[in-house]
Amino acid sequence: MTVYAQPGTEGSLITFQDSYDNYIGGEWVAPADGEYFENVTPVTGQVFTRVARGKAADIEKALDAAWAAFPKWSAKSATERADILWKIGDRIDANLEKIAVAETWDNGKPVRETLAADIPLAADHFRYFAAAIRAQETGTNEIDSDMVAYHFKEPLGVVGQIIPWNFPILMAAWKIAPALAAGNTIVLKPAESTPVSILELIKAIEDLLPAGVLNIVNGFGAEAGAALTSSPRIRKIAFTGSTTTGRFIAQQAANLIIPATLELGGKSPNVFFEDVADKKDDFYDKALEGFALFQLNQGEICTCPSRALVQESIADTFIPDAIARVEQSVQGNPLDTDTQVGAQASEAQMKKIKSYLEIGRQEGAEVLTGGDVAHLDGDLAGGYYIQPTVFKGNNKMRIFQEEIFGPVLALTTFKDFDDAMSIANDTLYGLGSGVWSRNWRTTYKAGRAIQAGRVWTNTYHNYPAGAAFGGYKESGIGRETHKMVLDAYQQVKNLLVSYSEKPQ
Ligand code: NAD
Repeated sequence: MTVYAQPGTEGSLITFQDSYDNYIGGEWVAPADGEYFENVTPVTGQVFTRVARGKAADIEKALDAAWAAFPKWSAKSATERADILWKIGDRIDANLEKIAVAETWDNGKPVRETLAADIPLAADHFRYFAAAIRAQETGTNEIDSDMVAYHFKEPLGVVGQIIPWNFPILMAAWKIAPALAAGNTIVLKPAESTPVSILELIKAIEDLLPAGVLNIVNGFGAEAGAALTSSPRIRKIAFTGSTTTGRFIAQQAANLIIPATLELGGKSPNVFFEDVADKKDDFYDKALEGFALFQLNQGEICTCPSRALVQESIADTFIPDAIARVEQSVQGNPLDTDTQVGAQASEAQMKKIKSYLEIGRQEGAEVLTGGDVAHLDGDLAGGYYIQPTVFKGNNKMRIFQEEIFGPVLALTTFKDFDDAMSIANDTLYGLGSGVWSRNWRTTYKAGRAIQAGRVWTNTYHNYPAGAAFGGYKESGIGRETHKMVLDAYQQVKNLLVSYSEKPQ
């Protein structure tokens, strides 16, 4: 067990700056109107720094820098760009602990997760796209004996990227790595509640990137965000966040006639068929663990398995075992490597979750465990903690249909396969899902029947580069974490060449 010192205290790995500027054209630039906003750590609820409150003028400056950098960056060979991406991956690894503590302090997630998942996965993402761009090939078609069609993949230009607060660094890596690999330059806006870890990451890698290739403008959605997504100077927008904002951004992209990739909300079903309980063996334990994973990242994951569907015939044994597994999770100081459940990312998010705990009760759902805020001691008393909660109810309830984005599970039972699929698909969303069975035919049939972009089968919450990630239905448009996302950052140029001397 390790307990990392709070940033800025004796023995800590990191001391944050008193204030952070925007990063534009390779320099740290104060906001045009000099305004900053306070940044709070959800671990203690205390302000720990101030961050530039960017607006339209700052976005314009960043777009100038990104367009100025575009000709040189796009003219680099894939090998040269890959070399830089690879070095970024290595640099992130070399600063693992420091960046992990920064991410934990900014977001409230346990350091065991940032050390083992968020930061290493981000580093791996840069290396994956370094390899993918070098391996990318395009086609040549012989139209007839005198005519050949050559295809080239060209970058789009300057792209806009908007990042949410639940996985600040990983979501930034998912977007930056393919965009740069494909030869674009970037203006990126972090979420206003978690900008600092991304800025610390930039400090660690800034000497590797030519000036203007990656620009960061901080600020609020309605100010910096809207100025970026409505600018006619961007050639593509990539967004991760809520479905409400995503719908608005899609409308702006339609006006600009630019492509948009949208990673939005979810209400993912996690389906447990009766044969998981045939034996109380390792597979049974694995399934219980899969049930309890709704608490990962305090439930602030768009793929949170927030609806558990358990076959009626095993409900009497499986549900008590699953609740016992949930109750084993350690909630506490996010800087302690033993902690599994940390703080919600912001006070607003904590209040929203709390209101859903009330809604669940009012709807008549039964509380099987949790159901309230969690009161921690000492410095943590001011932080934003919620008890992992399991409600039992039915799929028509709001707690089954609306994204809560907290450690709150809505549990129901089903009779047979068809009943399970009908409940699983009775949602506006289609991002993640899980199926658990010892029978390969059941898992395959369920995997194909569930309307979601990702069906974890006898596992949950793995995010390797190389497996496509994205939503069906209102969960979004486009895929990330796979080389196919390169298509979203490139356009195809066709040279149709005649080698004939005669008119054709
Ligand atoms: P949000 O939509 O409010 O904010 C996301 C980002 O968009 C922030 O950077 C915010 O400043 C910006 N933004 C807000 N309004 C904007 C506007 N008008 N114009 C431009 N930018 C604007 O979402 P959130 O509350 O920060 O994030 C939580 C949501 O994100 C959840 O609903 C979750 O499901 C979703 N999410 C989805 C994925 C995925 O991969 N599909 C991943 C993480 C989070």
